[in-house]
Amino acid sequence: MSNEMNKKVCTISYGCQMSERDAETLTAISEKNGYARTENPEQADLIIINTCCVRESAENKIIGKIGQLKKLKEKKPQLKIAVAGCMIQQPGLLEKLQKRAPHVDIWTGTFDHHQFEGLLRTADQGGKAALVSEAACETTEVVPLAEKGKLRINVNIMYGCDNYCAYCIVPYVRGRERSRPMDVILDEIRTLVKNGCRDVTLLGQNVNSYGKKDGFAYDFSDLLTEIDKIEGLYRIRFMTSHPKDFSDKLIETVARGEHICEHFHLPFQAGSNQVLAAMNRGYTRGYYLERIARILEIVPEARLTTDIIVGFPGETEEDFELTLDLVNTVPFNQAFTFMFSKRSGTAGALLQDQVPLDIKKNRLQRLMALQNSQSLSWRQKMIDNRYEILVEGPSKSDPKYLTGRTRGNEIVVFESREDLVGSLVSVTIRSANSWTLFGELSEP
Ligand code: SAH
Ligand code: SF4
Repeated sequence: MSNEMNKKVCTISYGCQMSERDAETLTAISEKNGYARTENPEQADLIIINTCCVRESAENKIIGKIGQLKKLKEKKPQLKIAVAGCMIQQPGLLEKLQKRAPHVDIWTGTFDHHQFEGLLRTADQGGKAALVSEAACETTEVVPLAEKGKLRINVNIMYGCDNYCAYCIVPYVRGRERSRPMDVILDEIRTLVKNGCRDVTLLGQNVNSYGKKDGFAYDFSDLLTEIDKIEGLYRIRFMTSHPKDFSDKLIETVARGEHICEHFHLPFQAGSNQVLAAMNRGYTRGYYLERIARILEIVPEARLTTDIIVGFPGETEEDFELTLDLVNTVPFNQAFTFMFSKRSGTAGALLQDQVPLDIKKNRLQRLMALQNSQSLSWRQKMIDNRYEILVEGPSKSDPKYLTGRTRGNEIVVFESREDLVGSLVSVTIRSANSWTLFGELSEP
């Protein structure tokens, strides 16, 4: 049985990188309060479930997971369970879940991280705590202590979203768009680098509108340029770029930047103008294609990735074929594909003409088959070429091998007897499957 001295926290996080970053904040606060990290829920004295509500499928999985923890708590009554994240920001959901899951000790929303320490203390003293504030316009900064030696870290540069795409719940559960000032971000990254971080991903729902609403005298490209000057940082990534605000200045900044990775995650969501308008995306197919052409003109080696939704209300077979056609036209290295999921409170949930599930499934399968074959052919084109790899650690399946990532974020596995973790090496790709590239260490 554990005592006060060796309590452990296990965090299980669902959803996007933002959500992952929130999970890190809550875990770091728990650590500060005497909990060591564990990945094994059976060994934990505190389990944090960090939720996501962007799609219904994730939500159902999480509700199932919270239910399962009841058994663990029965076996180990001193176990504390905390549920956090954007799922419980939805109106009425907290009350419903509290009734269904009385074994949960702490409920905490996305705007209440700065209060988590107090909630934890209440639970540690045997009490129950629930604090889920409404979507805020301001952000109370809680910057997690950086885990020493962690190579890749996500850093928020802004919170919330004002775009109101018709399908999306994010603006409702994450609040209005607000950006963090440049000096605060630079300070955070410098500290992370001192602690061993070499690769940062700057996070925002629409990084291209960074600072605009807050009236900053600098924009996202200026921020990138300043981060690029931080010594000891090898790689800078960013996501997500919204096509409607995607500027030439940003493409040129990426082209010029020394450590800024040539990777553009530019979700197009749908290939038909009619669906794009219904989604309230603010751009047309033609505009999107023009932006891609411009990227490839200025950064020919760019890695392009995207998000796509099938089965938005009213999407016809013809509309869907325009999505397939766009995937055929643009050389995406990877695409994240989703079936439209009705989220209550969004404009999309009220639309007539919902697409039946079997049609959505069929479209998703056709889209995935096309993108998988494109992704594989991209990986095969990398064979016999040499890439700069940031070495992350031994491969999970065979510790004789090391894994690392290219600037384009592709995972590469290669053999080495040396401990190269944290350094940049040159690797020639020798083979590829759908997910992984296998390479050979090259002479520098
Ligand atoms: N801010 C980012 C996206 C954040 S959500 C952007 O604008 O690109 C991540 C992805 O989830 C979206 O790009 C979209 O493809 C998908 N998504 C969001 N809501 C969805 C819904 N209701 N149904 C299906 N997919 C959804
Ligand atoms: Fe959602 Fe659109 Fe905002 Fe992205 S830009 S978070 S899809 S509302």
